[in-house]
Amino acid sequence: MTDKLIRNARYILTMDDAHRELKEFDIRTRDGVISEIGPDLAENGAEVIDATNCVVTPGLVNTHHHLYQSLTRAVPGGQDALLFGWLKTLYPIWARFGPEEFFTSAQVGLAELALSGCSLTSDHLYLYPNGARLEDTIHAAAEIGLRFHPTRGAMSIGESDGGLPPDALVESESAILNDCIRVIDAFHDPAEGAMCRVGVAPCSPFSVSRELMRDAAILARDKGIMMHTHLAENDEDIAYSQAQFGCRPGQYAEDLGWTGADVWHAHCVKLDEQEIDLFSRTQTGVAHCPCSNCRLGSGIAPVRALQDAGVPVGLGVDGSASNDSGNLIAEARQAMLLQRVTRGADAMSAREALRIATRGGAEVLGRDDCGQIAVGKRADIALWDVSGIESAGSWDPAALLLAGPMQVRHLLVEGRQIVRDGQLTTIDQDAVVATQNRLARQLAEAL
Ligand SMILES: [Zn+2]
Repeated sequence: MTDKLIRNARYILTMDDAHRELKEFDIRTRDGVISEIGPDLAENGAEVIDATNCVVTPGLVNTHHHLYQSLTRAVPGGQDALLFGWLKTLYPIWARFGPEEFFTSAQVGLAELALSGCSLTSDHLYLYPNGARLEDTIHAAAEIGLRFHPTRGAMSIGESDGGLPPDALVESESAILNDCIRVIDAFHDPAEGAMCRVGVAPCSPFSVSRELMRDAAILARDKGIMMHTHLAENDEDIAYSQAQFGCRPGQYAEDLGWTGADVWHAHCVKLDEQEIDLFSRTQTGVAHCPCSNCRLGSGIAPVRALQDAGVPVGLGVDGSASNDSGNLIAEARQAMLLQRVTRGADAMSAREALRIATRGGAEVLGRDDCGQIAVGKRADIALWDVSGIESAGSWDPAALLLAGPMQVRHLLVEGRQIVRDGQLTTIDQDAVVATQNRLARQLAEAL
């Protein structure tokens, strides 16, 4: 691949250890890696990307998503429901999905992420009806060119066993574990610079058994991969844990091996002081999903307290059925605003929220090769044009979340430019939108 030279950036927000903000510097990328940072770098045959009007940041990192849900945005019966009621509305629709639905909705979700500056995303896919497989999403990510951490999710307790999902959407626990092994062996790449890393991710403590939670943790540690699930999302979730397991979610997670630097939990809105301390001691990560938490009325996650306790925190847009948007830079702004609602205007700065959205997310996903602009790190770089209307009059363009664009101008992943002038270079965006709308219409007509 030709070297790229990002020239004359207005600001580079490096997110490095020294929190440096560089003015009018250049960045050279070579073979997927940042090879040089400095003023007035020599061209030497590199492809030049003019960054004169741009704030340059590491690519954003999304730590929680259900890409398949982009086919069920704004479903009328779920628009105003709480979590459990919302799930019951959507399960019968998801039960009709097959491989084409999973592939196309993943493409849409990934495209939206890329356009909002995301270079690395995880995904949590926990239902596999009608022949769907994890690789339906892996192929979509490879085509778009995003760095991808798919997790093999699962549900095993259906309605007839007292669970929430219909029986048609759950799998046997032996089939789940066997398929986890299959996808890890086929797709997981532990190497530095990996474009695909697989995790295991039972859907939540209320949709799988205690045994599966424990066995999934044993398998993950045996394979050296990460683990992910939903935890302590809202009051119903806490009440379920106390009624079914006789303890709070933090205790349940700890008892079954679900704490540690190789674990990250989505939401964690209702963690109490002891649980925050547990996460801090064990370096268990959190995927904070502020829009989803607002949309479902779940509450405000204690992100200020988590940050102060040194818990690794990243951002997640969550699935499009509960967000309904998948814009990651908008999510970062929402994270900044939401902490201020209860904690005051100094609870979270624009810079701190952006750091959570980049470096923070990379740390949660165990990627110390991503999430910062430093020599030797992967060339995942977002360029934000601050010459537009939304930034006009800003006294501090580097405070990107206060007055910045909601879409990226250029995006590099592993040194490859996958967004150029606000357009994806790797897929035909209009064709994907048309396919997605056709599939959504078919699903609606079948109800
Ligand atoms: Zn979720």
